[in-house]
Amino acid sequence: MVRVFQIQYIVTIAEKSISFKVEHQCPQCGAPVILGEDTLFFVCEFCRVRSCISQKGFSRYMFSPSEKTSSDAHIIYLPYWRFKGVRYTCTLKGVEHKFLDISCLAMGEPRKNIPISLGFRSQALPLKLVSAKTNGSFLRPSGYEQTLLNMNKKFTSDNKNVFQENIGETSSLIYSPFYIKNGHLLDGILNKPVGTIDENSFDLDRADTCRPEKETLFIPGLCPSCGWDLEGNLDSLVLVCRNCESLWSARGKQLARIKFGCARPVNDEDVLLPFWKISADISIIDLKSYSDLIKFGNLPQVPLPGSDKQSISFWAPAFKIRPKIFLRLITQLAILQPKDDFKKQLTKHTLHAVNFPSSEAIESIKVTLGALMKPATKYLPKLDEVKVTPKAIKLIYLPFESKSHDLYHPQLGVSINKNSLKLSENL
Ligand SMILES: [Zn+2]
Ligand SMILES: [Zn+2]
Repeated sequence: MVRVFQIQYIVTIAEKSISFKVEHQCPQCGAPVILGEDTLFFVCEFCRVRSCISQKGFSRYMFSPSEKTSSDAHIIYLPYWRFKGVRYTCTLKGVEHKFLDISCLAMGEPRKNIPISLGFRSQALPLKLVSAKTNGSFLRPSGYEQTLLNMNKKFTSDNKNVFQENIGETSSLIYSPFYIKNGHLLDGILNKPVGTIDENSFDLDRADTCRPEKETLFIPGLCPSCGWDLEGNLDSLVLVCRNCESLWSARGKQLARIKFGCARPVNDEDVLLPFWKISADISIIDLKSYSDLIKFGNLPQVPLPGSDKQSISFWAPAFKIRPKIFLRLITQLAILQPKDDFKKQLTKHTLHAVNFPSSEAIESIKVTLGALMKPATKYLPKLDEVKVTPKAIKLIYLPFESKSHDLYHPQLGVSINKNSLKLSENL
């Protein structure tokens, strides 16, 4: 049956992302499962049961204290937000990008003597999920938005002619172990003091603590509508039921149905790549119809009759891809506005995994604007204040021709190198 192929596919990807290890436990049989950090879906090697991982808010992981840490030390786990993604900077000359992998203490204001970031630890040490058996106190993190805002303040300039947006591929919370000994705070991985401890800053009786494992849920990887095995990669945000042709995504304790459309492929070998199609209200800039877009981007297109009534959508890849190609796709799809004759049916074609969240696709709309605007001197100073209010979002599969080295879309005139698509899975 098809299933054999699906499992082989999953294993190949697991070997690729071995550098970011997380220890899981199969919720069905309890067998240990070591998977990549971004794992959201897996098939247990022992009992073959499929499971989806759902996180309340963000993924939560921890580092174990070192073996040298005294077993009677009371471990205090301090929370750090980790952001992995790309920063796009819109300038008068165009859009630039830079990779980011940053972590930041999630305790509101920076605290004296407590390391402000995790440094290279998140790349070097294995991450674990917190289990009910993990002893210690876990401090409740301050809001991600607030921490990210503080983090951004450090980087952004007051220059009105620069607009920056961080578009994330992974946002997670990592707990790092510390303990107190003789009035000193010690790092539980290095077993070295990081400084003296102000008594008031570590009153655990008053500190707000939580149990992170209660916020990681496992959901059976079965179609809620027909019971069929769902298909997906390890990092798939959207799971596919080929039996009743439906798409699902973990939301809290259950799987929620995803609205989708699929353009008809021309050739048998075509590969269907997923995109988020978003309609949104844009404040400040007059951008309601296609003729508005032609004016905004000073596009060479001749406005056809009715283009002042033709509504526009924004598009973003729903898969991880290098920033250069990401940027090209969001701009070209906005200009092309693929027509809406998408069917709610899946064909037998290969579906590329959805591993880029819709929330980040919404954030990319302002980068699309930054890439299209002409003249930049007119719009760039306003871009920071522009509000994007999404109205509808849908997953659309577009067919790409499979050439020997590339996937090619003739109308878009975009080709994506197959190797770069593979490499990007691990960005
Ligand atoms: Zn199992
Ligand atoms: Zn189904």
